[in-house]
Amino acid sequence: MGELARTDGLRLPGRAIVDGAAVEPRATFDNVSPRDGGILGQVARCGAADVDRAVASARAAFEDGRWREQPYRAKKQVLHKLADLIETHLEELATLESLDMGKPIADARAFDIPASANSFRYYAEALDKLYGEVGPHHPDRISWVVHEPLGVIGCIVPWNFPLNMAAWKVAPALAMGNSVVLKPAEQSPMTAIRLGELALEAGLPPGVLNVVPGYGEEAGQALGRHMDVDMLAFTGSGSVGGLLMRYAGKSNLKRVSLELGGKSPQIVFADCPDMEAAAQAAAWGIFFNQGEVCTAASRLLVENGIKAEFVARVVAIAKAIVPGDPLDPDTRFGAMVSEEQMTGVLRRIQRAEADGAKLLLGGQRVREESGGFFVTPTVFDDVDPASALAQQEVFGPVLGAIGFDTTEEAFRLANQTVYGLAAGVWTADVTRAHRAARAIRSGLVWINGWDACDITMPFGGFRQSGFGRDRSMHALEKYADLKAITITLGPQK
Ligand code: NAP
Ligand code: MG
Repeated sequence: MGELARTDGLRLPGRAIVDGAAVEPRATFDNVSPRDGGILGQVARCGAADVDRAVASARAAFEDGRWREQPYRAKKQVLHKLADLIETHLEELATLESLDMGKPIADARAFDIPASANSFRYYAEALDKLYGEVGPHHPDRISWVVHEPLGVIGCIVPWNFPLNMAAWKVAPALAMGNSVVLKPAEQSPMTAIRLGELALEAGLPPGVLNVVPGYGEEAGQALGRHMDVDMLAFTGSGSVGGLLMRYAGKSNLKRVSLELGGKSPQIVFADCPDMEAAAQAAAWGIFFNQGEVCTAASRLLVENGIKAEFVARVVAIAKAIVPGDPLDPDTRFGAMVSEEQMTGVLRRIQRAEADGAKLLLGGQRVREESGGFFVTPTVFDDVDPASALAQQEVFGPVLGAIGFDTTEEAFRLANQTVYGLAAGVWTADVTRAHRAARAIRSGLVWINGWDACDITMPFGGFRQSGFGRDRSMHALEKYADLKAITITLGPQK
């Protein structure tokens, strides 16, 4: 065991940020720690009136151009400063993230916080590289196309990568000149609030980034139905994504972008060039962040000739992944985000057993004496491709192995869910790799690697994994409208 991350003297943020200031809450809710089930503190429970104020301040900031009209050099400086501040506050933010949602502090330090800073850096640098277009030559007209910010963006984010999911949306939305109202998940509001504070410190004008913690049905729904929000950028479940489309349809037809769940396949062919790398990817592709990852490789499709040996390798790796205190730097696997999430995962494990899948490893709650919400890495074999375990997202550390005999069967199984977020393919055959990349219907395909991309590449899903992309220049365009302008030339004088 390493030295636990220090929490003494740590301020636990809990207030909404509206129009550049922390707001005295009208009501609060308990922020529960998944690490020990204790109450960390009280967090503002924003309602429709708070959301109204936040949207009004975002609108006023947008209309008077205090951010939108700043020269791109000035915007760039502010976003870089924010990235600097995220980096200088790395330890504080990592500790808040780990306390709030149960992820290993080592991951928060090495991944979540640096990646969030990097999003702001990337979009700081991207904002002056988005060019418009000039239309084709016409003898009597000149036409051009410009990108314009949309206005007020409502960002609604989940709890699995609280700061990073917020950064994926807030950074490009701000870089494009929009104002933002950010609604963090009720389970993990602290780093989002801190982001709002640090943005002000970086010089972002008041009202440009507002943060309204609270419940989805209250603060989230109020944003969704608001008549003065121009777009909702959402990451979360398909059911809430569907609600947001309804809210948009019943209010002002605001745009909606949805990053939803997945049931991503990891497909291992017998000619896999590096079995150890594939086995590590198969294990960490599902057990990273306790399986609470939208791209989690929850279905392991393995060619039958190597299946027994390969699955045994994955189980051996998984056995060594032991749930531990999230604040311990040696912990690689932490707590489930909430008691509700833990109970749901255990229920799905029981259902898989009842459906006839063979439990090879795990399946239990552990560390119960801590009061925290810990579930062991779990591996099933002989999973029926039509069963609930193979079809429905668990959003927890549960892997299901399925065998196949032919390439066609592998591709068919890969596509046999309603989702299409990510897929891994392990093969030495270049033709099969290319065929797989074409055949698999998902927004991300990784060949002979897992999660092998970064902020430079678009992220998002096909089919019920959603639409719209985070990351890359495409995300910048998502927060913009196109305006076509034409000037008609009079006769030469
Ligand atoms: P969720 O229940 O859909 O919540 C996501 C966000 O929506 C939270 O901020 C939530 O607030 C809010 N919300 C809930 N009900 C709402 C409503 N009626 N109106 C407006 N907002 C509402 O999802 P989750 O359980 O937190 O997160 C897990 C899901 O996210 C999984 O399905 C996972 O696959 C998906 N996910 C997808 C990606 C991706 O990029 N594709 C990334 C990460 C996670 P409350 O917290 O207060 O309920
Ligand atoms: Mg939720």
